[in-house]
Amino acid sequence: MHVTTVVIGAGHAGLAASHFLRAASIDHVVLERGEVANSWRHERWDSLRLLTPNWLNRLPGASYEGPDPDGYADMAEVVDFLERSAKDVPVRTGVAVTSVRRSDGGYSLTTSQGPIEARTVIIASGACNVASVPGLAAAVPSSVEQVTPFDYRTPSRLPDGGVLVVGASATGVQLAAEIQRSGRPVVLSAGEHVRMPRVYEGRDVLWWMHHSGIWSQRYDEVDDLTRARRLPSPQLAGASTLDLNVLTSLGVELVGRLSAIRDGAALFSGGLRNVAALADLKMNRLLDTFDEWAGTAPGERFQPTRVPDSSRWRLDLTSGEIRSIVWATGFRPDYSWLDVPVVDAKGSLVHDGGVVGDGLYALGLPVLRRRRSTFICGIEDDAREVVDQLRLDLAG
Ligand SMILES: Cc1cc2nc3c(=O)[nH]c(=O)nc-3n(C[C@H](O)[C@H](O)[C@H](O)COP(=O)(O)OP(=O)(O)OC[C@H]3O[C@@H](n4cnc5c(N)ncnc54)[C@H](O)[C@@H]3O)c2cc1C
Repeated sequence: MHVTTVVIGAGHAGLAASHFLRAASIDHVVLERGEVANSWRHERWDSLRLLTPNWLNRLPGASYEGPDPDGYADMAEVVDFLERSAKDVPVRTGVAVTSVRRSDGGYSLTTSQGPIEARTVIIASGACNVASVPGLAAAVPSSVEQVTPFDYRTPSRLPDGGVLVVGASATGVQLAAEIQRSGRPVVLSAGEHVRMPRVYEGRDVLWWMHHSGIWSQRYDEVDDLTRARRLPSPQLAGASTLDLNVLTSLGVELVGRLSAIRDGAALFSGGLRNVAALADLKMNRLLDTFDEWAGTAPGERFQPTRVPDSSRWRLDLTSGEIRSIVWATGFRPDYSWLDVPVVDAKGSLVHDGGVVGDGLYALGLPVLRRRRSTFICGIEDDAREVVDQLRLDLAG
């Protein structure tokens, strides 16, 4: 088989790419190892709801049409939305790309269904293919069960007893809350995190991010792009605020960043107060920016994060207090199938606004072209611009 463009992945990024390739009359195929919206179907936990409100989730040619624009979609609703936008997309499901190599005419792809030759390739295989678990996990005693967000489905599948949740970004705070509510006492290890209220001055905080233009800031205008691309996801989940204060009210115990596991004990840094103060400061700065943009007097300010006077710095993992650890320490892409030297030592694809070079492109990566690039609402502009560049490159 020979096509002009192969798109790898049928999540929202691959579907958006196809929309603009079709509009530009570029013959293409979208290869998906699983099903359309595979990550949302198979790699998320049961209770997950989007942190972006329904009205904000739009794809090229598809926006929310249901009765609850201010609601937060569950996984079945996300899958349904993506399936609807895949109607006219030339997707081949159940086709895993196992190798991409340079060839005379562009790229040779090896897939589970045979070889494909393409002049250009768009990598839309996702930024969150595997859980990033720190190497120190290897020192956890075998009596403690270890789980990543990919294995986790509901609290009832964890052993009874205490749970150490490592990481206090969007995933960590959600899982800490629901595990604590299930009756399993949670210790939450919090490093750097991004605090946000769900609602500010009567509007969803993402309404402010969207309308103030912060989320559409371009990658080439961001001061420290490397840092912006590594920022943790905001502490948002579903309809209400879910920050560290909410978690302590539920009974979750806060500890500092996990720094080592030694002699069967987890050791935490003493910097909890500092990281919490920094998150408060940054949240207040963000709210100031909203006020400035709106031209209004400063609005509501939220209580500083309550940090225990002395948080535990050591947790014995052999005492039976902790029966499981949930690694909510982030996700990373998997490019093990990419046989082109375009991945740096840290495993990130090297690109300039989604243009890798030599007919290779990417979509769906953090701050690819804008701050909102990894979100569903961020793909339309990115995909249009990347496909535009691809079209120009094809034209020589
Ligand atoms: C827990 C979690 C919650 C999130 N919540 C929100 C939210 O509330 N709102 C929001 O806007 N965004 C959210 N995001 C961010 C983003 O929308 C998702 O990560 C989304 O899945 C990214 O879409 P994508 O198309 O870039 O990648 P994916 O959805 O991961 O799609 C990539 C596809 O490529 C396929 N693939 C990968 N490798 C290969 C291969 N070698 N061969 C063939 N196929 C391959 C995969 O099977 C997959 O279907 C969330 C992300 C996570 C992880």
